[in-house]
Amino acid sequence: MSAGSGVSPTTVPASRIEISRRAYRSNLDLLRDVVGPGCAISSVVKGNAYGHGIGNIVELAEEWGIRHFSVFHAGEARAVLDASKKDTTVMVMGFLAAEEVEWAVENRVAFFVFDLGRLREARDVAGRIGKPARVHLDLETGMNRTGLSREDFAEALDLLQRSPDTLRFEGLCTHYAGAESEGNHLRVQRQIEVFEERTRTAAARGLRPSVRHTACSAATFSYPQTRMDLVRAGIAQYGFWPSQETRMRFLLQREEENGEPVPDPLRRVMRWVTSVMSVKTVEPGQFVGYGTSYLTTRRQRIATIPVGYGQGFPRVLSNLGHVVVRERRAPVVGVVNMNLTTIDVTEIPGVEAGDEVVLIGRQGDEEISVGWFGDITRMLNYEVLVRIPREVPRVVAP
Ligand SMILES: *Cc1c(COP(=O)(O)O)cnc(C)c1O
Repeated sequence: MSAGSGVSPTTVPASRIEISRRAYRSNLDLLRDVVGPGCAISSVVKGNAYGHGIGNIVELAEEWGIRHFSVFHAGEARAVLDASKKDTTVMVMGFLAAEEVEWAVENRVAFFVFDLGRLREARDVAGRIGKPARVHLDLETGMNRTGLSREDFAEALDLLQRSPDTLRFEGLCTHYAGAESEGNHLRVQRQIEVFEERTRTAAARGLRPSVRHTACSAATFSYPQTRMDLVRAGIAQYGFWPSQETRMRFLLQREEENGEPVPDPLRRVMRWVTSVMSVKTVEPGQFVGYGTSYLTTRRQRIATIPVGYGQGFPRVLSNLGHVVVRERRAPVVGVVNMNLTTIDVTEIPGVEAGDEVVLIGRQGDEEISVGWFGDITRMLNYEVLVRIPREVPRVVAP
């Protein structure tokens, strides 16, 4: 093909991700049910919306009624604004470079402030461009990562008091050091106490933030007192529990309330699928693929899928992972290549080129769960999700 002809010869992606609108809405319904009507839900869409694609999720979330999004950095904030069709608030919880403060203020993007220098910067920028900076004071309450110390908080309050026109005290917030694990209970409890104490300090000086927010998904489920005015819900909206502990705790509590066991209410939003590229019969006693890691023990049917570690299918799944085809699990045999993976379909009659293959998600009664995928790759479910490459197209299905 001549250069510049403008048409790509390949229009079918090697794999794609399907996003279920129905599942996503159902998870937001659950969150609404859990937090009640008086609490706002911020949709956390950092990490390319936990691998689901920021544009898709912003669209679905706004359609459901979400008007608040949380991101890690300015690039993600911009992506939310680009996708947004509503009067939505975007909040940067993490990295905002000094050069980006003006952009944030100009575009009414709210941001966490965890040092005094940033607060002065925000005040100066806001004064110069004539728009208020929407600041959320992030408090050190015991995580020891970011957050204003008690002394810096006192000084931050001074600054807010002196600059009411440029600094809008929109939020007071913190983050818990592991609300998904019972083992951190005491530490989280102490963080809540410190946060309440700081709130009183501000109130005593007549300073009240528009919203107080501290809860991630785990805290939202397990610590009702942390929900306050707004929850920052990440993993749960995508249909995953922050941990097994959070899940069990929630299900047992609902069982107690209902007098009978309840089904797991979260629904996975994502399916990652590819299709069979070719199938062949291999005689007994033959090695499959590179090297000698897999030897056939009988006449076997080996199928190839066009996905390898180059497309985000981890190489540690060599001779270990499973996929689903024709509603049955098929083991990965041999090593995962850069762009190809071989699977054994001997026990699955009729497999042919073009058959859908599920890498993550459900097909019929079989499922490759993110949890299982994470267990064998030693990854957290969060990690599995964000590692799925951005190039994989995401499509919204009903
Ligand atoms: C990622 C993040 C959240 C959301 O956490 P989930 O466990 O995914 O709900 C909330 N707050 C902050 C500060 C975060 O970084």
